[in-house]
Amino acid sequence: RIVHVNGTYVPEEEARVSVFDRGFLMADGVYEVTSVLGGKLVDFPGHLARLRRSLAELDMASPATDDDLLAIHRELVARNGITDGMVYLQVTRGAPPDRDFAYPNPPVPPTLVLFTQSKPGLADSPMAKTGMTVVSIPDQRWARRDIKTVQLLYPSMGKMMAKAQGADDAWMVEDGVVTEGTSNNAYIVKGNAIITRDLGPHILSGITRAAVLRFARESQMQVEERPFTIEEALTADEAFVTSATTFVMPVVRLDGQPIGAGRPGPVAARLREIYLEESRKAAV
Ligand code: PMP
Repeated sequence: RIVHVNGTYVPEEEARVSVFDRGFLMADGVYEVTSVLGGKLVDFPGHLARLRRSLAELDMASPATDDDLLAIHRELVARNGITDGMVYLQVTRGAPPDRDFAYPNPPVPPTLVLFTQSKPGLADSPMAKTGMTVVSIPDQRWARRDIKTVQLLYPSMGKMMAKAQGADDAWMVEDGVVTEGTSNNAYIVKGNAIITRDLGPHILSGITRAAVLRFARESQMQVEERPFTIEEALTADEAFVTSATTFVMPVVRLDGQPIGAGRPGPVAARLREIYLEESRKAAV
């Protein structure tokens, strides 16, 4: 695989990042994951805009212009022959000469790393047919989940807690209400209404979420951006999650109990179809 590190394209075995990099030492970095469908980038402007916001919130320098970042994404997709898959991008505050909690002053250049993962048939995941299962766990992440940082230890632990219970993923609960999944936004459906947590520091503003809510509104569905409890989810007609790599994925069991009919529901199926169709059209 050819990867990108700080302006150069190299085979993955030759890629190097300093042991003093603050991303490695302190999780002082942000990232984005963009799906590739048919060799094109899905929702790219949204991912770029969120990256800019994450960098700004952390006073982190920009590693490259928007045009350059798009060009690097495209170059990696082409060089690695990706038809369906994803591009991972990470920016860190760089590698100062000494380990110190304070940000380096003067600043050092940010570290920019991108790589691809090929996932043939990404849009035809069998899980979209069967649905996934989730369990609830406490949300023990930090309080700025709106910034897409590389501090992914608790979400990783959450995924392991889910696996230990035989489930696919976890929905995190804080103050009695669901925030989001370990790597996705969480939704329930009641009648014609789609309910998902309102935006704020407590969740990541999903790029897929924004598109799916737009399509839902355009299809005359009612969208309620508000907190919901596990109890309310257990009485919902349907549930699903969204993310750049899973698109819209039905959730059929929560804490061992079926949601609705315990099968993927029509609203999730319809939204998945619209999302895939529209995002393929808009892909760059
Ligand atoms: N919430 C969290 C915690 C996530 O990690 C992700 C995926 N990165 C999402 C939501 C979904 O965001 P997106 O649709 O932009 O992939």
